[in-house]
Amino acid sequence: MSMIEFQNVEKFYGRFHALKGINLQFEKGEVVVVIGPSGSGKSTMLRCINALEEISSGKLLINGKDLRDKSTKLTEIRKNIGMVFQHFNLYPNKTVLDNITLAPKKVLKESDEEATKTAEKLLDRVGMLDKKDVYPTTLSGGQQQRVAIARGLAMKPEVLLFDEPTSALDPEMIGDVLEVMKKIAKDGMTMIVVTHEMGFAREVADRVIFMADGEVVEESRNPEEFFEN
Ligand code: ADP
Ligand code: ADP
Repeated sequence: MSMIEFQNVEKFYGRFHALKGINLQFEKGEVVVVIGPSGSGKSTMLRCINALEEISSGKLLINGKDLRDKSTKLTEIRKNIGMVFQHFNLYPNKTVLDNITLAPKKVLKESDEEATKTAEKLLDRVGMLDKKDVYPTTLSGGQQQRVAIARGLAMKPEVLLFDEPTSALDPEMIGDVLEVMKKIAKDGMTMIVVTHEMGFAREVADRVIFMADGEVVEESRNPEEFFEN
């Protein structure tokens, strides 16, 4: 059973046809990069996976569970699927540490001590431990994004989705964020990454999916070869 499976998924926004018969499978441990022009449906596909958007028809299965079944608990699904956004979406009035411990304490019922210990370990992993007591607004975009990645990991999700994580960053910040993403990939995290960073795709992806106009138009398990053509 695949971790995530799209079966002939269609998505309409009103009359606009955003996803046109998507058939895809994502496996545990895979790093998949999704590329394609702006407006091709990449972000919509990610938002359908964590149920921020409801599909219009077809089936979307997460660990075999149909997202549209009445018995499927979306909160359970979302707990298990982390997301890193283009614009970080950190809480501005909470310190870096509190940004990370909030959900594990509230949703996973972790103790303050346990959540703090995990958060500090993750902050160290993304090179941000020395900033744990500051507020996000005092950080650069690249630093904020590394905190957002740590926050995503703190929920111990089975898969982490990235929606153009470096697109809003100044060029000199991009490298640090990509390095952190590479580390996480090496740790064996399952990742689906929408990005324009072809170097990352070539180096790290197990598979590259190319979308255009709401469809998957290419899929390659050999990124090196893919980018030569
Ligand atoms: P991408 O991530 O590839 O840029 P998106 O999935 O964000 O593409 O968008 C695909 C298309 O769907 C775009 O034309 C966009 O304007 C449209 N779209 C996205 N979200 C909505 C929405 N909430 N309502 C209406 N149209 C939307
Ligand atoms: P991004 O490029 O960061 O994905 P977008 O501008 O595509 O940002 O979308 C930002 C938000 O606006 C999303 O929540 C999306 O659903 C919504 N959106 C995008 N296009 C449309 C549209 N044509 N009509 C209504 N909402 C839209």
